[in-house]
Amino acid sequence: MTKKPPSYSFSRLDLFGRCPFAFQKIYVEKIPRAASDALITGSTVHEVVASYLEHLIQHSLVTDWAWAEKQGFIDVPADVPEIWSRFYNNFILPPGMEAPEVEKKLAFTRAWEPTEFFAPDAYFRLVVDLTYRQGGLAVITDWKSNRVVPATVEKDLQLRIYGWGVQQALYPDAQEILLRLHFLRYSAEREILLLPEDLSTVPQELEAKIAVIEAEKHFDPKPGSFCGWCGVTAHCPVMAQALVPVEVLAPATREQAEKAATLLLTLQNLEKELAARLKEWVRDQGAIQVGDLIYGPSIATSYDLDPRAVVQFLLEAGLERETVWPLLNLTKTGLERGLKKLRRQDLLGQVLANATAKTTERIDFRKAKEEL
Ligand code: SF4
Repeated sequence: MTKKPPSYSFSRLDLFGRCPFAFQKIYVEKIPRAASDALITGSTVHEVVASYLEHLIQHSLVTDWAWAEKQGFIDVPADVPEIWSRFYNNFILPPGMEAPEVEKKLAFTRAWEPTEFFAPDAYFRLVVDLTYRQGGLAVITDWKSNRVVPATVEKDLQLRIYGWGVQQALYPDAQEILLRLHFLRYSAEREILLLPEDLSTVPQELEAKIAVIEAEKHFDPKPGSFCGWCGVTAHCPVMAQALVPVEVLAPATREQAEKAATLLLTLQNLEKELAARLKEWVRDQGAIQVGDLIYGPSIATSYDLDPRAVVQFLLEAGLERETVWPLLNLTKTGLERGLKKLRRQDLLGQVLANATAKTTERIDFRKAKEEL
């Protein structure tokens, strides 16, 4: 049987840049990627938004809140329903959309000619969330589930790939491409106009990146801030050295969980010692870089605010008394300490009895009593 030729996408190139080892595990060895909340949230909201758009386009509607409210979610992170509700409550299908396409699958051959998405000669693939024409303008919308909305948008390779792919495969005569990023968590949008000169070098840039991947022999792990998201941590030699057997990393039985807890306790103690010595070292010798993270001193500013002066100032500035008090963020520990200093701990019980109690779950080590 002949081996299937490799094919690429922006996310594959991006993964290789972040960690060649993770790239090899996921795309060459086809090891299933462990799902993270961020991945599930992203894919679930993309799916429901795409179904909604198809429904609106098919029925020539600009919104359909009744349809949107009926969408249910099972076993998804808690932020999914919130993101969805924010989206459909704020979104209106843009007017004057010509030939709209939702979740449009595009593919290109090695010669960068359009081909079928699943064709054997498909070499580079991309999926465009929403695209349509408005006269000479081609519009592309990309849904983002990021937690941060950038102040401005750079014409980075990912966005230029979208622009180039859409122009090449769908609208070769479009003079300009408007790329709109829609941040679903906040219903905020950022736009950028892509011109022919922004797109002309895309195939060469992709070829250069692919050549680096194809010349790679070692696919070494590259630990850094991406480690929490790669989805193949359990297969990673760096993680295995740092920790231990996979069954401790992902316990399935009580016995394994006990081993994991023992290890966690040891690591917590070790972490304190390690951090103390490392802090001394970086104070003396300067910051060090591990992958894309830097460990070293940074300056944080804290303020010793006088509550009486702050309240006075805010009231004089016209704020209502009821809105000012919550800003002072009184904590039980702070109150307890203050009353202790005043030798009036007896008042604490009464204060707490008059307050609304909120309980939150915290999982951590605590002193063992008879409960186990
Ligand atoms: S845990 Fe970090 S170093 Fe290991 S495969 Fe994942 S991203 Fe790479």
